[in-house]
Amino acid sequence: MLKKGYKLYSILLGECPRCHEETMYENKNPYKLKTTIKLNENCSSCNLHYHLEPSFFTGSMYVSYPIGIAFTVPPFLISHVLCSASLLTTLFAITGTLIVFLPIIARLSRNAWINIFVSYDKDAVEKYTSTNQ
Ligand SMILES: [Zn+2]
Repeated sequence: MLKKGYKLYSILLGECPRCHEETMYENKNPYKLKTTIKLNENCSSCNLHYHLEPSFFTGSMYVSYPIGIAFTVPPFLISHVLCSASLLTTLFAITGTLIVFLPIIARLSRNAWINIFVSYDKDAVEKYTSTNQ
């Protein structure tokens, strides 16, 4: 599942959704907060322009909601169910988890959003290089 050609590969690793050859981001580390959501303009392998339209990634907010919810389940289960913590303590655990994982949630949301609109094309690099010679 986590190999080139699968959307999950592009979503989890932030790879170009069309060719899966390189990362979309200026910096691979999401915790470099100045560049967390900064994308390269184009993919240098297949020339996909990542901003499909102006404000394209605003729509990733729709995706960030369920992803954020998924990140709240483990701290809830650990603190409230396993450790029998109070609801206030559980709230702090969930809030802390969301703050710590915010850069990852932001990137996963953007990756999932662009993967809704762009599909993998195994010949994308070949098509791009053949038209530029
Ligand atoms: Zn590409």
